[in-house]
Order: sequence, then C-alpha cells, then structure tokens
Amino acid sequence: MGLLPTPQSLWPAGLLLAPLGARAGNADTSLNDGMILLLAVLVLLLAYLALAARRRRERDQQAHLRQLQEREQRLRLALWASNELYWQFDLRRHALEITRVAPDQANDLIVQTLLDQDPHIHPDDQEAVRTRLIAYLRGDTPIFISEHRMRSENGQWQWMLARGRAIAREANGRVVRLAGTARNIDALREMESERQVAAEVLRNMAESVAVLDEEFRIVAANPAFSRMTGYAVEEVLGQDTSLLNGDRHPPEFYQQARQAIRAGRSWSGEMWQRRKDGRDFLCAMQCNVILDPGTRRRLYVLVTSDITERRRIEQELRYLANYDPLTSLPNRTQLAERLAHAIVQARRSGHKLALLFLDLDNFKDINDSQGHATGDRVLRAVARRLQDVVGPGHTVARISGDEFAVVLEDIRDAAEADRCAQRIIAAFETPLRLDDRNEATISPSIGISLFPDHAQVPTDLLKRADTAMYRAKRGGKRGYVRYVQAMEEDSRRRAGLIAALRRAIERDELSLAFQPVLSLREQRYCSVEALLRWNSRDYGRIAPCEFIPLAEDSGLIVPIGEWALREACRTLADWMRAGLDPDIKLAVNVSAVQLLRGELPRTAASALAQSGLPASCLELELTESVLMGNAEQALQRLDAFAEMGVSIAVDDFGTGYSSLSYLRRLPIHTLKIDKSFIDGVASPDDREDAAIATTIIAMARALGLQVVAEGVETAAQLAFLERNACDLVQGYWISRPLDAQACLSLLLRAQRQPGARLDPAATPA
Ligand code: C2E
Ligand code: MG
Ligand code: MG
Repeated sequence: MGLLPTPQSLWPAGLLLAPLGARAGNADTSLNDGMILLLAVLVLLLAYLALAARRRRERDQQAHLRQLQEREQRLRLALWASNELYWQFDLRRHALEITRVAPDQANDLIVQTLLDQDPHIHPDDQEAVRTRLIAYLRGDTPIFISEHRMRSENGQWQWMLARGRAIAREANGRVVRLAGTARNIDALREMESERQVAAEVLRNMAESVAVLDEEFRIVAANPAFSRMTGYAVEEVLGQDTSLLNGDRHPPEFYQQARQAIRAGRSWSGEMWQRRKDGRDFLCAMQCNVILDPGTRRRLYVLVTSDITERRRIEQELRYLANYDPLTSLPNRTQLAERLAHAIVQARRSGHKLALLFLDLDNFKDINDSQGHATGDRVLRAVARRLQDVVGPGHTVARISGDEFAVVLEDIRDAAEADRCAQRIIAAFETPLRLDDRNEATISPSIGISLFPDHAQVPTDLLKRADTAMYRAKRGGKRGYVRYVQAMEEDSRRRAGLIAALRRAIERDELSLAFQPVLSLREQRYCSVEALLRWNSRDYGRIAPCEFIPLAEDSGLIVPIGEWALREACRTLADWMRAGLDPDIKLAVNVSAVQLLRGELPRTAASALAQSGLPASCLELELTESVLMGNAEQALQRLDAFAEMGVSIAVDDFGTGYSSLSYLRRLPIHTLKIDKSFIDGVASPDDREDAAIATTIIAMARALGLQVVAEGVETAAQLAFLERNACDLVQGYWISRPLDAQACLSLLLRAQRQPGARLDPAATPA
C-alpha cells in the first residue's frame, strides 16, 4: 500500500454515489437553488480544504524527504570518512548486501549496493566466521565481530573486520537479518605482522638489545641481553646501565660515552662491561636515538655484542703472526718490523745497527736423534740464554728452526757487535738446562751484518748476516764472522754447487779415489781409504773439503754417502776377484748426518751383502767431533756396527775434544792422528806436534787401539813415526789417492814382493 491517499478517499461516499443532476428536478427550485449553491460552496470548501491538506502533506513529505536525504548524505559521508562499508545479511536467504560509498569521477560521493547471494569468505576462515555468528546468535557475545578474508571485486582476498547486530527478528525472536559495518584491515594486519616479526627478531637476536630512557635507565631488553649480562630482564628494568660498568675503564670513560650518546644521533664504540657473576666482557656497542612515538621523548636503542672471544682470537692470531709460540720470541715477521723501525732510528741518530744471525751447530742431529720434544726444549733454553746475554734492551728473535737473530741498536762500531757475538759464544759454553735432570751443550755460529755498512733494508741485512753465518759454519762452527762483500759471490757459488750436487749421482759425476795405508811393522798395505771425488759438468773438479760440507748441510750426503759405500765395497770385491789378499781392509768415511739420520747399519749390511764381502773387511771412519757431539746416540749406533763385525776408526783425531774415558766406552778399533799434528813431527821447531803425536800413539796403545798417522808427506815424518812405533801410516809419501785401477796395480805389485821394504810411490790420483 502506498503512503499517499488516492483521490477517491477524499470524497464522502454518499456524495459521490449520487449523481448531481438526478437530485435537481425533485425539489422546490429556489430552495433547491439555494441548497445547490450551498452545497456547491460546501463542495468547493471541502475541495479547497482537501487541497490545502494535501499541499501541507506534500510539504511535510518534502521536508521529511530533505531531512532523510540530508541524513543519508551525512551517513554517506560518515561511511566514506570511516572507510567502512555497510552490510546486511539475510540469514534466511543467505544473502549479503553490501553498501559502500565512494567518490565517482566527479568526486561526488555515490552509494554502491551489491547483493551477494553467496558471500565469498575465504575457505580457511569460513568455519571461524560461522562459529562467531553462532556465538552471537546464541547470545554468547553482545555483538558479532569477525576478522576474515573476503574476496574483493578485483578477485583479491582482503582481510575484513566486520561488526554487526541483529536488526530483524521473527515473532519467536529468531534473528533473520543482521546489519553492521566492515572495514579492510589489510594494512593493519600487515603492520601487526611486521610488529610481530620485529618482536620475534628482537627476541631471537644474538645481539643484546636494550632500550634506555634519557637517563640511561633500561626500559626494555631482549633475551640476548640476559644471556650476555647474566641479569634477567625484569631485574634490570628501570635500572641505570651503570649497573654493568666494571673497573676496566675509569669513570670518566663511561661519562664521556654518555655525553657522546646524548650529543649525537648515533654512537658506536667498544666497552668493557661486567656480568652479574662478576666476569668482565668486552662488547661492541651501537647506540641509536629514537623518539618514543607516544611521549616524543628520546630513547636510546643500544645494540651490543660480546666480542671478548673474538678479540682474544684476534690477539692470538696477531701474536701468532708476530711471535714464535715455542720460544715466545718475536718471529721473522716481527723481526723485520723491528729492524725496519731500528733502521729508521739509526738513520736519525747516525748510529750503527748490527744484526747477529745465529745458527745452532749440529742442532739437526739433536732433533733427529733425541726427538723433537728435546729439540724444542733446547730451543727454548737457547732463547732464554740469548735473552740473558744480550739483555732486555735488544731484540732477540727466532727466525726459523734453529736460527735466531739479535738486533743491536745504537752501537758505535763493528767491534761492539763482535764483542756481543763473543759474549754469546762464551755463554753457550755453559750447558743449557733443559729440565731438572737434563742438560745440553750446543754452540752457535754467528754471522754479523751492519747498517749502514752492509745493507740499507731489513731483508738485505738478514741476507748478509746469513751469508756471514755460513762462513762462520764453514770456518769450523762455534764462531762468528762479520760480513764482507766478497762473501756474496761465495754464497752464490754455494747455491749453484748444491744444485749441481743434487744431480751428481744421476749424471755419473762422482767417483772414488783410493789411498793405501801402510803397516810399518808388517811392511805391507793393510788397508785402503776410499775418498770421494766430484768432477762436475758445470764446475769442474771440486775438492771434497768444499762439496762434502755442502752435501752435509743439504742432506745430500745421505744418498751420496750410500753411493760411496756401495761403490767402495763393489770395487774391493772386484779387486779380490782380481787376486788381492782378502785381509786388506776398506776404510769408508761417514758423516755425522749419515750416522744420525740415515739408516747406516742397514745400508752397510746391504752394501756388504751385495758385494759379497765379509763385514770384517769394512771400516767406517767417523770424525772425532761427530762422536763427541752426539755421545749417546753415537754409542748406540756404533754398537750396531760392532755387532755386525764392522770396525770403526776415529778420523782427524786430535782436532776435537775427545776424552780418553769417553773413547774407552766406544767400540772403536782405530785412531787416525790428524795430518795437522803429523806436519810438524819432524820439524826441529815444532816440539809440540811431536809431543802430541807420541802421546796419542802411546795412549792408543794403552787402549788397545790401532793408530794411523795421516798426511805423511816426508821421509823424516815417516822415520819419526817408525821410531815412535806408530802402526800405520797414510800420506802422499806412501801413496797419493789413486784411481781404482792404479790402486789395484800398486797393491798387487806389493803383494807379489812380500817382506820387501815398500818405497814411497808418488802417483797422483
Ligand atoms: P779424511 O778422511 O781425513 O781423508 C784424508 C784426506 O787427506 C784426503 O783428502 C786425502 O786426499 C788427504 N791426504 C792424504 N794424504 C795426504 C798428504 O800426505 N798430504 C795432504 N795434504 N793431504 C793428504 P780428500 O780426499 O780431499 O778428502 C778430504 C776429506 O773429505 C776427508 O778427510 C773426509 O773427511 C772427507 N771425505 C772424503 N771422502 C768422503 C766420503 O766418501 N764420505 C764422507 N762423509 N767424507 C768424505
Ligand atoms: Mg778419512
Ligand atoms: Mg782424516
């Protein structure tokens, strides 16, 4: 039914039913006329009234409509401004009506209404929406509220927050229609999820994060803060951060840090802090200033990480990069740095600077024979001894292995460096204490280079000192040598020779010379000494006294010595097959390196087996210094030879420091008196040599040893030795070293004239 009355409803029913013309003819005309007029007036009046009433109603309606429009406009504005939409949901038809307000192209707000028979709620959210709706309908909640996703017009899912109430019910009170508002909360949810992520990140951060107020009181902190400081978060809230200050920094340090934080927008630095348990830790801090969104007050966000361990490792690495962990002395890198610094100083002051390069004599043998643990102890003891001698004012460094360096700053002349070297050598005469029970004696060879005399930069100074040190080694070790220019050429030659020596065996450049040894009593050649010869393709003939030390230093003596041993045995076996008496002995020289490092007993056994010679044929010559320097190991290894039946001779006897009691302990058969004593035996000016030689002969006798006099060059020397009942003689006067063939001829010739006095044969090899 319409709201406005129809035109008919305005008329009284009777009047309308009776036609006007039908009544006029039945009454008195004048009366009728008056009546008609009256009626007409009445009708007109009524019509006017009805019209007026209708106009008023129309006016009222229009006003009402305007009011409604205004309200609707306001509602629209409100809806638009609140960014919400209005919805109605018909529970019976399951239809959702959505009304939203949006500006059109002309920027007028227009209302769009959509009817959705099947509301597109995200499948994952449908259950939750239903549950909330049921809860509301049941009266469990005063209002229906739901957050869920709905498909938008562009097909995207949007998070909506919907609120509503029942607006229509059936007579029995059952809700049939709900209405309410809804808004898109995508942005809100995103912010919330960001906030949650941020909170989660903060919770899981390895770095401690603390938020401080302007007075440096802790407002918030994350779990890492607790882990780092040992304080529970609740314990520190409201506390001043000075709670964590230790005493590694003065109070001013902390004050300055606060000032810097207050002054700027951000600050970073390192600081020692103290944990609740009292342990100090070093931390790297980063502080940023933020504004509290609510109060607009400044807050400090302090991100801290514990770098104690990292710093310790850094320091350790720095230490390892610059110091030798075994001796705690500066290493080569640090030495170079200090040298560079010292050079700068020396340049400024005009003073000199000396670099002493030390190498321990025969240290390799200690290491090889007594093991690395002992070697290490020796090195530590050497480091201490060196530091004691040179004092704290000078740098002592370990360059590598058994090489050390001393930097003497501010010296006036080279003599000062010499004196220091002498002091060092003297200091090493006293045995080094390794521990409560063990001692070791070791000597250094020292090379000296000077700034500005020999070099201008650290590397050159080191090189020159090293060159001088090698010279000291070759000069018989246990000494010092100052660098001179000429050594440069020498060290180049050395390097070249070592390289050539490395290929000498494969290039077949080595050979043996044989020097017969004469028995004075028996007047026969009783042995031959095999002597190495090297004829280098690059360098020509090189004397053994030059290449043997190189071979020893480079370790090449092990394969070369083995070659010599096998070659000597092979030659003697050949000679015997050619008719030589089987009681002739073969003497082969052996170096310390071979004795201590190589597998000499096994090599000797194999050389003998290969050649078919009996062990009694073989005599090994070892220098006195080898035996003395490595007493214990030498003893052990010599015993192995004694067991095999191989005899041992002490070569160059008299040049070392042999003690008789010591010699008695060794399984040796022969002493070879060094040529240097034989040289003077027949000279009327040199009584001393004669005395030494006779003493050695007598002493050897007493010990039951054979004595060989080496380097007999004259008839007078021979006569002296005969007079003093020396058993055996060897030297140019008897025979020069010969090649294998010549030696065999000599021996066979002598063999054919038994008993005849042998004349000196001077045949050079
Ligand atoms: P050494 O074992 O003392 O050998 C004796 C050296 O004196 C030989 O020198 C020999 O030629 C030389 N000689 C012999 N009689 C006289 C003489 O009357 N007057 C002079 N002036 N010299 C004489 P060479 O052959 O130059 O050997 C020098 C050193 O090289 C040897 O001294 C030995 O220590 C070493 N050597 C030689 N061959 C070998 C070897 O196969 N292995 C090892 N490890 N060392 C060897
Ligand atoms: Mg010899
Ligand atoms: Mg000798």
